[in-house]
Amino acid sequence: MFSNNKPKVAIIGAGMSGLGAAIKLLESGYSCVILESQAEAGGLAGSFSIDKKYFPFGYHHILCQDKPLLKTLKKLGLYPQVAWKKGKVLFAVDNQIYNLENPWEFIKFPMSWKAKIKFAKLMAYCFLKKDWEKSLGNAQNWLDKIAGEEVRKTIFDPLMDIKYGLPSENLSANWLGSRLHYQEFSKPLGYLPNQDWTKVLTDKMAEKVKELGGEIITNAPVTKIRFNQNKVTGLTYVRQNQSYDINTEIVINTAPPHIFLSLCDYQDTKLQKVEYLDALSLILETEQKLPRELYLLSCLRPRYSFGGIFMLSSLNRTIGVKNGTIVNFFTTLSPKYEYLRSQNSEELLETYQRDFEKIFGFRLEPIWHHLTLIKNYSPKFLNDYKNPETRGNIPGLYFAGNYLTYPIITSTGSAIASGEKAADYIIQDHDGH
Ligand SMILES: Cc1cc2nc3c(=O)[nH]c(=O)nc-3n(C[C@H](O)[C@H](O)[C@H](O)COP(=O)(O)OP(=O)(O)OC[C@H]3O[C@@H](n4cnc5c(N)ncnc54)[C@H](O)[C@@H]3O)c2cc1C
Repeated sequence: MFSNNKPKVAIIGAGMSGLGAAIKLLESGYSCVILESQAEAGGLAGSFSIDKKYFPFGYHHILCQDKPLLKTLKKLGLYPQVAWKKGKVLFAVDNQIYNLENPWEFIKFPMSWKAKIKFAKLMAYCFLKKDWEKSLGNAQNWLDKIAGEEVRKTIFDPLMDIKYGLPSENLSANWLGSRLHYQEFSKPLGYLPNQDWTKVLTDKMAEKVKELGGEIITNAPVTKIRFNQNKVTGLTYVRQNQSYDINTEIVINTAPPHIFLSLCDYQDTKLQKVEYLDALSLILETEQKLPRELYLLSCLRPRYSFGGIFMLSSLNRTIGVKNGTIVNFFTTLSPKYEYLRSQNSEELLETYQRDFEKIFGFRLEPIWHHLTLIKNYSPKFLNDYKNPETRGNIPGLYFAGNYLTYPIITSTGSAIASGEKAADYIIQDHDGH
């Protein structure tokens, strides 16, 4: 139900943050329009289809500790369909594969006993530590202090290179510690059997927005945000080569900060400092079976063209078109791997196949494959990272997205929660509660 005295809110981006914000505002009686530059809602949690079956652009699992996501799944009636399974995480070192949860393989893992004990202590320390807000400095010093140099060099330096292409001295200890605390892969991971859950969730959230009277305009990049010193006045978007103006006093931006800053003349040093990385995600289906059951294989040494391989069908067995093995090769486009950006999907497949063969000893032959360049895959959580504010410094301007949720793990739920937080601030600022 709209109330006439509530202003219209324009939201930039129909990802999890934008959809989460819109649902909360619409339920509180605001009217909302979401402008999305892509053809479909979903953003980073978007999907592609092959033979009418949907797949996420890159691996997506439901984290059992992700309260905002679980709440949303419950609200949309999807929660009873969620199935849970523990995903096996393995590490490749010198073309040998190790499961560190298996005592025998932990013993064989190429690291000294002293380092293994310190590694176990680090994991226990992170599990028990609750507060990750107070700055712990850079990840290198912190790891060396708690776990020692050998653990850092064998396990964490390679993992940081895979994730960001940066040495651990540039990255935040808080970000790393809070990820280890979360124990993402020690707990069961959720999915919707036989379906791509991110597609189902996005569609349900978009449906909810429409059912509550909101509007989602796709293929509609915002090209300008207008404001004067005292307030937001509106924005401009383009659709089918035509420019459209929306007059509004309230805008929520969920696009990455560098995109937002290119749309207006706005000064904010925290926003200006946020840097992003792109990533390549190649998904394929094969009739071959991998010799080992795994959900994620992280390649610690040597570094291959991909940092990790996810086997999506090990979690969700029936996700494939032919119920074969679904493999997701993933490469963060840090400067060292930038050369892969120019490879087309056939060339990249060949590069990945060559490296895959070095580890598994046979050539992977896909039935189909699909490559996505995931733009703005993740902010870089550098050691001096500061969250920008949810309220902008011009009345009527608000921000949501994972660049505001450091140091907690970035997830679909953290994005939804950041959208809901922006909506709460708008409700407080305009309704006075
Ligand atoms: C490969 C990968 C794997 C992941 N795995 C998991 C997982 O297993 N579990 C989990 O919970 N989370 C996972 N995540 C994280 C989760 O997908 C994200 O945190 C979440 O989707 C981010 O949502 P968002 O709305 O904040 O940002 P985005 O999805 O980036 O949304 C921003 C939107 O703004 C739009 N936009 C940008 N510029 C403009 C403009 N000028 N005009 C209009 N629109 C614009 C974009 O197109 C986009 O749709 C993963 C993410 C990736 C990339």
